[in-house]
Amino acid sequence: MSTAIAPKAQIPDVAGQITYAMRSMGVAPIPRNYELFYEAYIGSNPALTRELAALGNSATQEELDNIGAKYFPRHAGRIFDDAHARLTIGLDAVLRALKQERSTLDSYNRLLGETCERISSRNHNSTDLLRSAIDMLTAATGDTMAHGEKTVENVAQRSQEMDQVRKELDEYKRIANTDALTRLSNRRAFEDRLISIFDNQLTRQTTALVLADIDHFKRINDTYGHPVGDKILATVASIIRANVRREVFVSRVGGEEFALIMEGVAVDDVVAVCERIRRTLESTPFKNSRTKIDYGPITLSLGICMASEAADSGELYNKADLALYCAKNAGRNCSNVYQEGMQKDFTKSWLIYKN
Ligand code: GH3
Ligand code: MG
Ligand code: MG
Repeated sequence: MSTAIAPKAQIPDVAGQITYAMRSMGVAPIPRNYELFYEAYIGSNPALTRELAALGNSATQEELDNIGAKYFPRHAGRIFDDAHARLTIGLDAVLRALKQERSTLDSYNRLLGETCERISSRNHNSTDLLRSAIDMLTAATGDTMAHGEKTVENVAQRSQEMDQVRKELDEYKRIANTDALTRLSNRRAFEDRLISIFDNQLTRQTTALVLADIDHFKRINDTYGHPVGDKILATVASIIRANVRREVFVSRVGGEEFALIMEGVAVDDVVAVCERIRRTLESTPFKNSRTKIDYGPITLSLGICMASEAADSGELYNKADLALYCAKNAGRNCSNVYQEGMQKDFTKSWLIYKN
């Protein structure tokens, strides 16, 4: 029987390597950052690893949180919980300071009343009584004013802290509603916006939903790889954004799918805008200046539906989706307006929105 002790299996120091990587990239050693780096280390999500690596050594917390919000939606929840706790503490402190201030003012008021009573119930000319009353009131006034100033200072400081939390919340809300790749509004923001169309029955009549889907995008990814696909997506997003008015809501609602919401428009205006986007994209060169590879032409199919055609957001989406489906069936690279009686061939589902 051998008595030799088997050498201990080498256990990789994962935590050590992750913290080393975080330290060398100057990343704050907080749990949500660790989670990002852990995922990148084990390589379970290549897109996350790629985006994190692309930040290099100068990643800001905002950029890290952007990636966190994209791949771990619960990060945003944690940030909100934290901000909520800080706001509650701040408000509690303000309320306590105000309550104390109120009890100090109550005491001061009581003192004023009692002094007034004593003066009127005894000899008005008694200088001793008046002097002692004045002394007492002067001291009490001084104390009350000092207390008041302290309260003002305290409340001002707390308000400043709460204002900071509010700003952070606004920023996180922006991040939570923004698509990290294209900087457009994301699906979450789109769904809120889509539902809100039906809040106002009057403006609904002149509101349109456009769904746009890049044609044969899978081929781009399959031929040139995902990073090229991502760059093209970002360019398509900026072309769409640049071809509509500022107030048009533009979002990325799926991989290579975009949704636009336009207000105060007639269907002809919407078709004109869609055609402008489509033609601009079609004629935009997608050429790699270094390798000379031409990825283009990149084209888009668009489905349009006026909100007046639907009773709710689900129906509006389905009808715009049906119009998009028909645009694809009609040969792609075209805009199509929803019409009563449009039919769907169920061999391929274009329903990207599920209730
Ligand atoms: P169609 O004209 O019928 O729309 O064809 P398609 O290839 O665009 O449609 P399909 O739905 O079959 O494929 C969509 C492709 O979009 C699949 C996937 O490779 C790609 N895609 C989805 N999300 C992303 C992303 O975030 N980045 C990149 N690079 N590609 C994505
Ligand atoms: Mg698609
Ligand atoms: Mg497509």
